[in-house]
Amino acid sequence: MKLPVEEIREALVAPFTADAYPRILLKAPTGSGKSTMVPLMLEEAGEQGMIVVVQPRRIAARMLASRVAYLSGSAVGGKVGYVVRFDHKQTEQTKIVFVTDGIFQNWCEKNKQLDGISCVIFDEFHERRVAGDVTLAKCLDLQEKNRKDLKVVVMSATLEMENLAAFLGDCRELEAGGRSYPVEIEYQAAPQATRGFQQNNREGIWDRCVTAAKKAVESPEAGHLLIFLPGVYEIKKTVSLLESMGAFKDYTICPLYSALPPKLQDQAVSPSETPKIIVSTNVAETSLTIDGVRTVIDAGLARVSEFDSNRGIETLLVKNISQAAADQRAGRAGRTAPGKCLRLWSQNSHRHRAAFELPEIRRADIAELSLRLRASGYSIREFRWLDKPEEAAIEKAVSTLKFLGAFDDEERLTDVGEKMAAVPLPPRFSRLILAGEEEGCLAEVCFIAAAIQGEGIFTKRRGTVGRSDFIYEEDCCDFVGEWRAFEAAQQFDFQPQRCGQMGILARGARECEMALRQIHEYVEKLGYDLKRIRFEKRGSEVVAAAVKAFGDRIGKRHSQNSLASKLSDGRRGMLDKDTCAKKADLFIPTEITEIDGKDVVVYFNRCFSVSVELLEEHFSDCLSVTHAVEFDKISRKVVGKKLTLMNGLKLFEEEGGTPDPDQASALLAEHVASGELVLKEWNQGVETWIARLLGLRDWMPELELPDFSEEDRAIALEQVCQGASSYKEIKNKPVLPALKTWLSAAQHAALDAFAPVEVSLVNGRKARVYYAKDKTPWIALRAQHLFGVKETPVIANGKVKLNVHICAPNNRPWQITDDLPNFWANGFEQMRKDLSGRYPKHQWVIEE
Ligand code: ADP
Ligand code: MG
Repeated sequence: MKLPVEEIREALVAPFTADAYPRILLKAPTGSGKSTMVPLMLEEAGEQGMIVVVQPRRIAARMLASRVAYLSGSAVGGKVGYVVRFDHKQTEQTKIVFVTDGIFQNWCEKNKQLDGISCVIFDEFHERRVAGDVTLAKCLDLQEKNRKDLKVVVMSATLEMENLAAFLGDCRELEAGGRSYPVEIEYQAAPQATRGFQQNNREGIWDRCVTAAKKAVESPEAGHLLIFLPGVYEIKKTVSLLESMGAFKDYTICPLYSALPPKLQDQAVSPSETPKIIVSTNVAETSLTIDGVRTVIDAGLARVSEFDSNRGIETLLVKNISQAAADQRAGRAGRTAPGKCLRLWSQNSHRHRAAFELPEIRRADIAELSLRLRASGYSIREFRWLDKPEEAAIEKAVSTLKFLGAFDDEERLTDVGEKMAAVPLPPRFSRLILAGEEEGCLAEVCFIAAAIQGEGIFTKRRGTVGRSDFIYEEDCCDFVGEWRAFEAAQQFDFQPQRCGQMGILARGARECEMALRQIHEYVEKLGYDLKRIRFEKRGSEVVAAAVKAFGDRIGKRHSQNSLASKLSDGRRGMLDKDTCAKKADLFIPTEITEIDGKDVVVYFNRCFSVSVELLEEHFSDCLSVTHAVEFDKISRKVVGKKLTLMNGLKLFEEEGGTPDPDQASALLAEHVASGELVLKEWNQGVETWIARLLGLRDWMPELELPDFSEEDRAIALEQVCQGASSYKEIKNKPVLPALKTWLSAAQHAALDAFAPVEVSLVNGRKARVYYAKDKTPWIALRAQHLFGVKETPVIANGKVKLNVHICAPNNRPWQITDDLPNFWANGFEQMRKDLSGRYPKHQWVIEE
């Protein structure tokens, strides 16, 4: 039977003209034969060098290699091989090699010209992993520079890849139709009772899957069932439920996920006559094709790791999959015959789902990538991006690399950075290894770097013996406990059962051993000399090394009674309850995760115990103690704080100490300026005084009076608050005396003379002068009290005519004028007419 992609064989293998880069973009639905047939067809057409097929997933690389080896009539490791982390089957004869994108990324760094490789196929490119994005860009660069012969094939199962075609520029676009049958989609929302928590409530998702499966198998057309769940935990729960029920006794139940032993993985995907129920993570979404599936049950969820660059937290949350991913999953039911897909969410909520998944570059921690790109001559800012990383993520990465000493202030690679880049681990861990060499505990930090990778050394299951039994309070870090468990696992020869009895995850321990071996290779290449691990003896050295790698996030608990903690960079979370660091002054978490259970909680895990003495001993030049003040809103007092800083970052703060008087009064003044505290005596009189000063300064510049700007206002406030540290002390404090110190005696005299508080009128009366900012000063009197005042009164040595508010007997202004003669000539007569009737007792006749 011919697979659909075989129909495009000719177009695929046709030679390229000299003026075109050999680039092919192939779109074809899942199951049409991309992964298996394209490498084979290219090989059969006589590709000279090696054909590399880049895969996002380990499990797919391994399984495809064995499938293609089988199709070409050879054994894996012969003509067809694979290379994944910790496992490879590749020999001299290997012409087609399936590799994970991470491995290929390493190859690109080590073998910059890709010598020996004539064709690179990027499979499953729609997954948009960072390693895929980066290596594709590098291959395009390489083609344009000096490998014009290098063939680049990009394959994708989804058709929504327009910007990819543009990114590839002038490329040969191919499409192969998949034979697909209609799939009937049915939605089934969660029952009302469990819906409240939305996706966070995954309890019972396995029950719902099993109920759906039960209904599905009633149909004679059910075919194989494929159930999509977010992770191993949910898969195991579902599998054991399915196995316990009579309804499925004729079915083979096959879990499918990366960490499953290869034999069981093969069982899940290989064709079978008897009906199967495959319970899988999203690896079966597009990477692996399982023939004969006619029913898909989709929980609609995936476990997604993300890096929140705002908070610098790696999160592993279960999220709703996008509409595009849901369509892919549904499509798995229509490969061989019409099928059915049951979505365990409502049609209405489906419409609110994201259309596509976000590319990993938009959600990953890119510190390691920044370093590696820089070390191979690229800049993360100017890279050939299909999608550029977020600016905030770049900033965060660069500042971390600067802290670690990998970048200098101009973002150039330092010597330390160069060495770090030679150790392909996340930058904090490559720095940790360098620091281990500096501090004399290299072997210990290598173990830590190995242990932190992979699944972990302890089983998650709650048993009688477990993680907490391996961790002792006096340990310098939780990795000592992991090391004890690791040594035990070695003694047990990594036997799952014996390890399991001790709460040790044999697989995790073995992975750790492999990672350790690899790290030892890295450090030997750096010319470092490894000595035996003796954590207990080298505790303080290990912690000192940790501070170099993690010193920008030292944590402290709020109190000894609570696990709630805060890091020096401001992040909050819960300290792991089993950690050895519970008794320490401070701690450093190497793992910060956000987990969603009933609530989303940030956890600080796998910690180092840090003492203040250690910091003082090893990092005294980075430590500083300063005193700060804080306004306590309840007591309305300024209180003193002692802050310990490391490299300018606040490590922790303690209450107490007398606040510095200058800082205290300045802080009080700030709170007055913001309006939070009110000075009773900063009253109208004060404002008038200021208005007089500002006015006169304007009218008579020759007096050279001082300004009173907003800044001066703040200084004046400070002056009033001088010596005080509580609101009580300033609340009723007089303000004017403080202001008056701003002027000399002569200036005071001038102010009183030229901007007087009151003026004497020619009729013998006195009138108060009102002042306000940017307004002509004024007086306000009843008309009768102005009798005899023919001219408008003046101040400022005659430079300013006052405005006169001429009031009615009820003291309301009847007219405002700076021209009294005109008022007497015209206005008064009118006023008299209007008001004399209403106020007959008042005098309306002017006696000369
Ligand atoms: P694509 O990459 O386009 O999704 P594949 O090349 O993976 O398609 O698969 C093409 C076809 O090869 C599948 O439809 C299936 O029929 C068959 N196939 C793939 N892997 C296996 C396997 N391990 N066992 C049996 N058949 C397989
Ligand atoms: Mg494929």
